[in-house]
Amino acid sequence: MRNSIHYRPTRVTINLDAIKANIRNFTQHIGSSTEIIAVVKANGYGHGDVEVAIAAFEAGAKMVSVATPDEAVRLRMAGIGGDILVMGAAPIVFAKKAAELGIIITVSTAEWLQTAVNDSGGFVKPLKIHVKIDSGMGRIGLRDAASLESIVSIVERFDDVQLDGIFTHFACADEGNHKKTEEQFAMFMDLVQTLPEKPRLVHASNSAAALLNTDYGLDAVRFGISLYGVAPSDYVAGKLPFQLERSLQIESELVHVKLLEAGSPISYGGTYETVEDEWIGTIPIGYADGLRRGLRGQEVLVGGERAPIVGTICMDQCMVKLPYKMPIGEKVMLIGCQGKEEVTMEEWAERLGTIPYEIAVSIAERVPRIYIGKDGQST
Ligand SMILES: *Cc1c(COP(=O)(O)O)cnc(C)c1O
Repeated sequence: MRNSIHYRPTRVTINLDAIKANIRNFTQHIGSSTEIIAVVKANGYGHGDVEVAIAAFEAGAKMVSVATPDEAVRLRMAGIGGDILVMGAAPIVFAKKAAELGIIITVSTAEWLQTAVNDSGGFVKPLKIHVKIDSGMGRIGLRDAASLESIVSIVERFDDVQLDGIFTHFACADEGNHKKTEEQFAMFMDLVQTLPEKPRLVHASNSAAALLNTDYGLDAVRFGISLYGVAPSDYVAGKLPFQLERSLQIESELVHVKLLEAGSPISYGGTYETVEDEWIGTIPIGYADGLRRGLRGQEVLVGGERAPIVGTICMDQCMVKLPYKMPIGEKVMLIGCQGKEEVTMEEWAERLGTIPYEIAVSIAERVPRIYIGKDGQST
């Protein structure tokens, strides 16, 4: 159990109703013949894997997927009973555990599967696999019909191995130029055609591909970043078929406020000096929470206005230049809306030269996650 009392006012608020709305809106867009696989790897993109998985199943997702075996085991142990797919490579020793826990694993080579079968001495329950095709990402996955055929022949020989699905992953689906994605899709479908029997789930799309082109929907889509209400790129943000609802906010409060006279240095290195008499507020959030040092100068929202972080960001605290004198306890929004203003993950990402995905997963574990819409109510 996570602590339910938090003394430090810094917290992440996750709106599970927004996540459910994104799934329902997406289902309406893509049609009910395409299943949604909710991607909850990396602790649900920092949002909380168990909570998001529960919300996703409630909203109609048919499967959740993670990157690693450990993430899958964690979900099962937390009581998630639905289908869980491990999309990354798993060590051979995991095959037995996967079968036992009903976790679906990704297979890229016949050698892997043959060794897993040989070493297992038989599975307690059938081992379900999805075969990964590398259609142009250059990551895991097989690339030719012969390799696929070898896997199929193992599946045919062993009753306790089931070919449940086959999938690929796009490298450039969030870009304006669709040529690479079209080529990847064609290569993937060519290989799928060589199967003697279509597996239950043929899937290719991540959020970007799924949002931009329903033709890539197939039997299922792996809905990741946009599940959380964030567009995969600026390009996709400009082409959204429906509005995404953002699910994450980072909030804190002023824990100290003082008037500093002109010329007062602030924080390590004294690299910021007040230019006039300035109201400086301290917020209890720092780089150990995921507020990276490179975010110095980034604005936060306080009293409905934008206020810049001044001076070096410390491990656990940082300072902001307040627009006027404010009381201790005044709410500060670091990512989210306050009044008419909004600071987004994309704004942080741009300042740091990265993508919103990296912002979401960099919010440290020590920041408590507070859920709205859990079992239909705020907690
Ligand atoms: C992370 C991941 C996804 C989800 O991608 P988004 O861009 O977040 O939608 C889908 N498929 C695979 C294989 C992944 O690793």
